[in-house]
Amino acid sequence: MPELPEVEIAARLIGGAIAGARVESALAPGINALRSYDPPLAALEGRTIAGIGRRGKLFLVGLDDGLTILIHLMSAGRLQLFDTRASLRDRSSRLLLTLDDGRQLRLREFGTRQRAWAKLLAADALDSEETLAELGPEAWPEPPPLGDLLDQPRPLYALLRDQHVIAGIGRSWVDEILHAAMLSPFKRGSDLEADEAQRLRAATIARLSDAIAHYERELELPIPDKLPMPLMVHRRNGEPCPRCGDRLEAVFYEDYVMCYCPTCQTEGKLLKDRRLSRLLK
Ligand SMILES: [Zn+2]
Repeated sequence: MPELPEVEIAARLIGGAIAGARVESALAPGINALRSYDPPLAALEGRTIAGIGRRGKLFLVGLDDGLTILIHLMSAGRLQLFDTRASLRDRSSRLLLTLDDGRQLRLREFGTRQRAWAKLLAADALDSEETLAELGPEAWPEPPPLGDLLDQPRPLYALLRDQHVIAGIGRSWVDEILHAAMLSPFKRGSDLEADEAQRLRAATIARLSDAIAHYERELELPIPDKLPMPLMVHRRNGEPCPRCGDRLEAVFYEDYVMCYCPTCQTEGKLLKDRRLSRLLK
């Protein structure tokens, strides 16, 4: 599940490697992958890539003449750079950009659902692109003060993952951030005390910065399908809490899991298993 740190490192590594390269051809083998029609993909032929930027969990591949490819990986997409051309059997490719030196930039997606998408946008269309306009402020490197931003009667676990509220955090990093801030996932944003809001902001910056620094040390091209995510809490239920040593617990939802430390975050209280409570209804 690529979130802000994973998208940031991919943008840095791949962007640095392909800046200045020219696009030879572009293809969109995925049925639903290309969500724009004007300009057509063929407009990419002969363009020079300026670099890759990031906004929230989205990539912005910049080309000359103000063209941008906006890419959303959704939950199972990857942006990868390959030295060789994609074999016809690579069913995971949704978008292929062949560069004139033979390398290939691919939007790939793992799993059965096709949800990752890309849009090719001219400069004016990029300015008015809704997906970007609707994003909240960046969670990293300098999020705004969180007291006002999160002042809503919704649980922190939902607010921090709401890209319209704050951009970049998903199911993995929210567990890490809330654990670092020693806050309950179900505490309401509107109930945050000033010192808690400050702690949460500091934890957000620290955990995301640490993750990016970790990737800077560990990763090089080609970026592997499975990233070595430095998670200490997420999906570590049953293991000892890295801070207090007590047992990390989890709440299971239909297709994901939320992890936390009862001692550090919920005053010892065990949170209800949502999957179970729905079945019992
Ligand atoms: Zn703990």
